[in-house]
Amino acid sequence: MPTEDDRVSRMSRDELTELQNERLVRQVAYAYERSSFYQALLDAAGVTPADIQSLDDLPKLPFTKKSDIQDRFPYGLCAVEPKDIARIHSSSGSTGRPVNTCYTANDMAAWGQCMSREMRNAGATPEDVCQIAFRYTLFTGAFGHHLGAETLGAAVIPTSSGQTDRQILMMQSFGTTVLHCTPSYAVVIAEKMEEMGIDPKALPLRLGLHGAEPMTDGVRDEIQERLGYRIARDYGLTELGGCGVSCECEAQDGYHVNEDHFYPEVVDPNTGEPLPEGEIGELVFTTLTKEATPVLRYRTRDLSSLSRETCSCGCTLSRHGLILGRTDDMLIVGGVNFFPTQVECVLTAYQELAPHYVIRLSKRGSRDVVCVECELEPDAWAARSGDGLAALGERLRKDLRDNLAFGMDCAFLEPFSVERSEGKTKRVVDER
Ligand code: ADP
Ligand code: ZN
Repeated sequence: MPTEDDRVSRMSRDELTELQNERLVRQVAYAYERSSFYQALLDAAGVTPADIQSLDDLPKLPFTKKSDIQDRFPYGLCAVEPKDIARIHSSSGSTGRPVNTCYTANDMAAWGQCMSREMRNAGATPEDVCQIAFRYTLFTGAFGHHLGAETLGAAVIPTSSGQTDRQILMMQSFGTTVLHCTPSYAVVIAEKMEEMGIDPKALPLRLGLHGAEPMTDGVRDEIQERLGYRIARDYGLTELGGCGVSCECEAQDGYHVNEDHFYPEVVDPNTGEPLPEGEIGELVFTTLTKEATPVLRYRTRDLSSLSRETCSCGCTLSRHGLILGRTDDMLIVGGVNFFPTQVECVLTAYQELAPHYVIRLSKRGSRDVVCVECELEPDAWAARSGDGLAALGERLRKDLRDNLAFGMDCAFLEPFSVERSEGKTKRVVDER
């Protein structure tokens, strides 16, 4: 018998739209009635809940911005009594003031359902042994993945992050099949296994669920190769309840959005106008079922595009593409805009380079200069010669210029000289 999740994943667009219309109308009325923030926001925009009868009316609603949530930390958007809150999580704070999210018992159940659906779409089953190597803190990653694995009926090993050699011993002892952690930590684990002389391909590991920060296809492919498993990337943000918003499936062709709980839009980041399917812009989500902290038209600042085409995996839920970057991470150098992920895409084509780099911005006189400091792979480091490095530098500078439309410098570093991260990695150092 198909589970509830399978049913939603395979609904026709009409059926899904009907469900979303119904939930949207309910969520807007609920937010207006229960949250003083939304009442004031809608009143100021001259919109009443009665104006929202279907998804077509969504553009009438004002956006919710990150600062709205930050300014009202911790309970400003809350729509329930404190006694009805079952869980609170907060952001990792990588970009300034913290934001938080609250869950009722029903929100927790929905979170578990979203995460387990994602895991199933990614190829996990109740027979899997899931090692949760996200850090168990206020950050949603560990608890969301843990809940998803439990809801799926898999076995959970809550190792948290860190103590990497012990982490690997756990994998060997318990026969871990699914590894959950940030992309950065997956790289650290791969390196540690090599150092310990352990062949990951001899372990039962078969799937990596990695998220919470960008991972380009190049780094994904490299980790798949090194750890001998398939990767599915997942996406989410604290303001919407954390991980569990969307995830790649076995087809690795976009992130399926859990559209029965989060309605996605893409808007022009400058004008806020909704963009047609396929165009790149800012992802905006409206929660459809949230009880504790409903969020209407939340501007994520993450850039991507949407597709409603049915995926080759059979799932009909919309997909967004790779997160190209968040508008906060956009770097402006000499009037040119770029994202760190664009640099990463260039670097991953080089076998000589390890997936560890720092983008350093500084001033030379009044001019902005960028230097990409890249770590060499141990073999390339051992075989380095002055001429070889000069030629590599020349090739890399040309590639960077061709891909980013402006010139940047590069420097090569000794293996293991870039600081490793067990959580999210900070790749940009701005000394300007
Ligand atoms: P913080 O803002 O402190 O990092 P969050 O943990 O809420 O707090 O981070 C959410 C953000 O992380 C997203 O808005 C997005 O920019 C980034 N992110 C999460 N998952 C992915 C992913 N799979 N790919 C790229 N970026 C991601
Ligand atoms: Zn799919």
